[in-house]
Amino acid sequence: MVELKSTAEIARMRVTGEFVASVLTELRARAQVGVNLLELEAYVRERIRERGAVSCYWDYSPSFGRGPFRNTVCLSVNDAVLHGLPFDYALRDGDVLTADLAVGIDGWVADSATTVIVGAAAEADTRLVRATEEALEAAISVALPGNRIGDISAAIARIAQTYGYPVNTEFGGHGLGRTMHEDPHIPNHGRAGRGYTLRPGLTIAIEPWFARTTDRIITDPDGWTIRSADGSRTAHSEHTVAITEAGPQVLTRAA
Ligand code: MG
Ligand code: MG
Repeated sequence: MVELKSTAEIARMRVTGEFVASVLTELRARAQVGVNLLELEAYVRERIRERGAVSCYWDYSPSFGRGPFRNTVCLSVNDAVLHGLPFDYALRDGDVLTADLAVGIDGWVADSATTVIVGAAAEADTRLVRATEEALEAAISVALPGNRIGDISAAIARIAQTYGYPVNTEFGGHGLGRTMHEDPHIPNHGRAGRGYTLRPGLTIAIEPWFARTTDRIITDPDGWTIRSADGSRTAHSEHTVAITEAGPQVLTRAA
């Protein structure tokens, strides 16, 4: 069931969104060569604690995970793209790091992900990251009342096609608000004009992610970390967006 949010509720989600955006901005700056993923996890955990926020990941136990998840941020490096379990690993020059963060403040959730290249970036990696960012912006631009979920999906797929990246449809965007995952599901590939009609008060996470040369994924023995099946590098960009009469409002945009 899709739950529409009031203007006041969206404002509360924006408070959470601004916090998520600030922490992700801080993580981008901290993602330097030699920094351990466990240091980044500890940093996020402390920021959440001091803000009085609640991690959506801590104790998260979905059917697919070998849960519960005992971390506050998903950190996915290189061929890992989703649900990356932080582990004892020091970042290396040229690594592609995705940080995905979802928290609640006073009962309202925001979810965002960003991909950063550590140290010197390879041109192919820069291009891949840019594709997910462009796909996200293209999808946000059609998140308008009267449009359909399929318009968002098609916008993402069109950018992927432009860049020549295949699209996996097993994991995509989702409604959110009181919890991290609500209806509707938002595939990263689909047909324009199809699916649920977007209306004011709908709050969704839009999250294009691509692997350079495959649409297939594999899951680590940890039950969490999802990687490209062929080991090719990956990127992921996500924002929490509110559909309003005045157009899409990005609730997790960095200040
Ligand atoms: Mg996320
Ligand atoms: Mg999400």
